[in-house]
Amino acid sequence: MQYKDVIATELKSIALVAHDNMKANLLAWCQRYSDKLSTHELFATGTTGNLLSNNTSLTINKLISGPLGGDQQIGALITEQKIDMLIFFWDPLEAQPHDPDVKALLRLAAVWNIPVACNQATADFIINSPFFDKSYEKSIPDYQSYIESRA
Ligand code: PGA
Repeated sequence: MQYKDVIATELKSIALVAHDNMKANLLAWCQRYSDKLSTHELFATGTTGNLLSNNTSLTINKLISGPLGGDQQIGALITEQKIDMLIFFWDPLEAQPHDPDVKALLRLAAVWNIPVACNQATADFIINSPFFDKSYEKSIPDYQSYIESRA
């Protein structure tokens, strides 16, 4: 696979997802960092998005609920380079009906080299990074050369 450098702009598109047992934690985290988050474009899976919309002043683009395909929607947006960052408070202590979707989402986040926080400590590090509000050069798969190499 060949890679190319791209610039993630100052304005980030951030996906927010929390499994049921972690939703209160994500809500508290979003309330704590609401000022920082409000300057970026936010996406969330259905139930997480409703919770955040109803309990913060943040504007959230809501997708379908995770178990009904919302994680896959976020994965698709990552492949289209429309999501720059994933904050995913997943539940490490309970199996989910959509575990395959969760695995697929995390895989695509790795393929497209986006920052991912799977717990609050990592989310704290990411949001307090100087890169959070600045442009950032990163390497992603070069799809054009990939498709040409298979022609
Ligand atoms: P939800 O989905 O926000 O609709 O609950 C999250 C998930 O379980 O992936």
